Amino acid sequence: MSPKPNMGNLTVITGPMFAGKTRSIISCIQGLPAKAQVKAYKPTVDTRYDTADIISHNGERIPAQWVDTDLNGVSLSDFIVVDEAQFLTLEAVYRIQNLLQQGASITLAGLDLDYLERPFGQMALIFSIASSVVKLTGTCAQCGGMSTRTFRKSNHKEVTLIGGSHTYEPRCYSCYHGVNLAEKQHHLQDALE
Ligand SMILES: [Zn+2]
Repeated sequence: MSPKPNMGNLTVITGPMFAGKTRSIISCIQGLPAKAQVKAYKPTVDTRYDTADIISHNGERIPAQWVDTDLNGVSLSDFIVVDEAQFLTLEAVYRIQNLLQQGASITLAGLDLDYLERPFGQMALIFSIASSVVKLTGTCAQCGGMSTRTFRKSNHKEVTLIGGSHTYEPRCYSCYHGVNLAEKQHHLQDALE
């Protein structure tokens, strides 16, 4: 028996803000064969740019089109890419499953957690149906360690506050929580002795 072609594959690229998710999705697309039919989308809630094109923080871009957060109208093509996947609805997850069953290869990029450290939108569900989940990390803006969290610098309360580095910064677990983990560990050890 020979292995079947690599279809019906769902890859998720995730992590906090400023971890290189968009850059990673762009190099993923650039690595595809020239004849591959690629369709890239971005949910309409992202209003940072006039164009739907997927643009990394360092200015690289690939053409994309706006789509609603249910992914209405996304049709089958060889490769489907959706950026800002944290905005997708449950309806969109069903649509993704349907497209996978038809043989699409899908790559989604999006935040794993919101600024309050809760699973963002349907991302936890999306991870569970993915064939591969790539968690990227960046550099903590406070200590230079490995960032896994997105810290909101303003005190706006809405979950979906679009913004760049004026509003958010990447932080490691300790700096996000404002705790000294080494000290915590020390106390824990004292308590166990
Ligand atoms: Zn830190």
